Amino acid sequence: MKRYFIAGNWKMYKTIGEAVSLAADLREKLAGCGEKLMIAPPFTALKAVGDVLAGSNILLGAQNMGPEELGAHTGEVSVLMLKDVGVSVVILGHSERRHTYGENDQLINRKVRLALQHGLEVILCIGETLEEREAGRLEEVIRTQLEGGLAGVGIEQLSRVTLAYEPVWAIGTGRNATPEDADAVHAFCRRVIAQLYSQEAAASITIQYGGSVKPENAAALMAKPNIDGALVGGASLKAESFVPIARFR
Ligand code: PEP
Repeated sequence: MKRYFIAGNWKMYKTIGEAVSLAADLREKLAGCGEKLMIAPPFTALKAVGDVLAGSNILLGAQNMGPEELGAHTGEVSVLMLKDVGVSVVILGHSERRHTYGENDQLINRKVRLALQHGLEVILCIGETLEEREAGRLEEVIRTQLEGGLAGVGIEQLSRVTLAYEPVWAIGTGRNATPEDADAVHAFCRRVIAQLYSQEAAASITIQYGGSVKPENAAALMAKPNIDGALVGGASLKAESFVPIARFR
């Protein structure tokens, strides 16, 4: 049976106390859930949340990572530091990193390769803006992000990469892509992966959908053949919305 990957991105929300309390609630309410689960608290709460999650079925994720192992990089958090606090998955290329903080495919690719080199799993986010979609540039944008983000990533490392298709116009707006639209873009991603790697890699890569996933639309999205999970922002901030998404079936 297909095992979905349901991940929560807490963004810049939750003090340590709030994060610990939500993580403890999720640990209890998601016990026995058979999906692959991950939550990504802010950096300041990683250690405390990692302690709460130890021995549970929920992986500890980070929302970003610096592109260097160590050095004079004020304000950055390195892959070694993430591993030190028990992080096993890192979200890279989130649209807020791309569009608010100016990250390009080249920088994201350096992070992707470094994370994989150090044994982490990566969720590589891709997605078009409304302007790009309306200009008919959807496939060109997705292809460029995939080719750029995965440059130099070997096929043997690809099993530790999850793609998250997150149309920028659907993130935090309450406006999700229809399951049919999302499925079509996921199918396109598989075609690109087949060209870059192989048919087998294209068939087996996990592709999450992200963008206003809620308890009410999760099952319909997950029912689509090319959708293998969800990257959830706003609705991951409360157990009452994240738990029913993770337990969508
Ligand atoms: C996200 O931050 O990755 C996201 C998809 O946000 P939201 O679920 O709030 O749209």
